[in-house]
Amino acid sequence: MLAPGSTIGILGGGQLGRMLGLAAAQLGYKVHVYAPDAESVAAEVTAHHSRAAWDDEPRLAAFAAACDVVTYEFENVPVDTVRFLSGHVAVRPGGAVLEIAQDRLAEKNFVADLGGRPAPFAAVPDRAALDAALERVGAPAILKTVRMGYDGKGQARLATAADADAAWEAIGRHAAVLEGFVTFAHEFSVILVRGIDGEIRFWDSPVNVHEGGILATSSLPPPQIVLDQQDAARALMATIAAELDYIGVLTGEFFATDDGPVFNEMAPRVHNSGHWTIEGAAASQFENHIRAVAGLPFGSTATRALPVTMRNLIGAGIGDVPALLADENCHVHHYGKTEVRDGRKLGHATWAGFAPGDAPA
Ligand code: AMP
Repeated sequence: MLAPGSTIGILGGGQLGRMLGLAAAQLGYKVHVYAPDAESVAAEVTAHHSRAAWDDEPRLAAFAAACDVVTYEFENVPVDTVRFLSGHVAVRPGGAVLEIAQDRLAEKNFVADLGGRPAPFAAVPDRAALDAALERVGAPAILKTVRMGYDGKGQARLATAADADAAWEAIGRHAAVLEGFVTFAHEFSVILVRGIDGEIRFWDSPVNVHEGGILATSSLPPPQIVLDQQDAARALMATIAAELDYIGVLTGEFFATDDGPVFNEMAPRVHNSGHWTIEGAAASQFENHIRAVAGLPFGSTATRALPVTMRNLIGAGIGDVPALLADENCHVHHYGKTEVRDGRKLGHATWAGFAPGDAPA
């Protein structure tokens, strides 16, 4: 059990690190953020900050020496960085999950081997392989880069095989995976936390609505089909977490289809679809992630009050803040980012126990 006053290192300086930092502070910990970016909205709320490259070994060694445990908020931290740090300090979750989560192909094979069902897929290492993949998977389909894809980036849709050239160009001719287009009723996520002793807790699964490949809203209660498929999806995510001896919050995104849950992807970290837990659950994903990496017992993951709505404030959507502040039931989270860009997550708003627009409590 990490004593209060200890220092937790966080790799990555975005809003997830910011909210983890706030949760760590609540539990009496200091946080040291390590990130290469010029702007770190995590470092703005934490005690220490190293701005350095992922491969700067002297800086990494100094960071490790300053931390009692290290975690990450960004799944594209180079695996070599985590391996290097692991030689100096405990890194939770460890590097094994990163190797899988950074490679869409490895992730799908790993999950399928554990009994999960991803969308039909085929590897597309080069342009020629795309034609063969289209024959196997069929159209419509989605071409996704194997690496560095998130929030709909590195993806191109193919309505028919005639779109192959355009899709290959659109993803920058990188090694990719072709996925069959899944006809789903709804999208949902499983958010779990696993402790050093192997204990697992789940938050209730929200239904997630994406716009342009980016999460727009997460809400509870979800439709019945999600409630019906939540247990099967949870069982898969628990198997994955146990297989990796995972410590911390792990998220799986699923499609609820007529044939049961289809695994889309996982994130080895706190997740946007879990932001509602700050006000909507007894203990949030951020608090329990910190508790997990610090070896503390978990707080309850129970939902406090329904309904719950979390709405992302993306790009110009951050301009809604004054109107949201006028809704007394709305919890506004502004990430403090200075640059407003299309598709950039700049904040979110949560209603817990109320619907947007309900009369004030
Ligand atoms: P991803 O970045 O892979 O999570 O994709 C972003 C969003 O695109 C998903 O949340 C879905 O809304 C949509 N999407 C991705 N893959 C598929 C698929 N195989 N079939 C249907 N929709 C998909």
